[in-house]
Amino acid sequence: MSAEDPVAALRGASLRVTKQRIAVLVALGQHPHADAEQLVRLVREDLGSVSTQAVYDVLTALSEALLVRRIETGPRALFELRAHAHDHVLCRECGALADVEPGVTPRTLPQAHGFRVDETEVLHRGLCPSCRPRVPLP
Ligand SMILES: [Zn+2]
Ligand SMILES: [Zn+2]
Repeated sequence: MSAEDPVAALRGASLRVTKQRIAVLVALGQHPHADAEQLVRLVREDLGSVSTQAVYDVLTALSEALLVRRIETGPRALFELRAHAHDHVLCRECGALADVEPGVTPRTLPQAHGFRVDETEVLHRGLCPSCRPRVPLP
């Protein structure tokens, strides 16, 4: 979807256009991989008082409409616009998340992103450059 035109994105997905939905899409356009709490803060900065539940409801609706991708990282879910298909690499220690082009193999990940990867599924997990030096190998 186009981050510049959240109204068109909502209409294209046959969703009602609301201030909250627009605010969440705009916030995600500026802050990819935000979690729900962060999005609540960003939407409040934009709109004033909005309930936490309202933002969660918007995230559910946008995820079901496939405008937003929900990434399960274990302790919390992160959200991003479904602008293009990509995989992710996740740091086990600090939760840092980076985008990876689909089809990147664990062997080429360290060159591309500095992670030491020890598991691969749709979500790659490993250690990010700042955690890598202080976490011993298993
Ligand atoms: Zn991503
Ligand atoms: Zn890390």
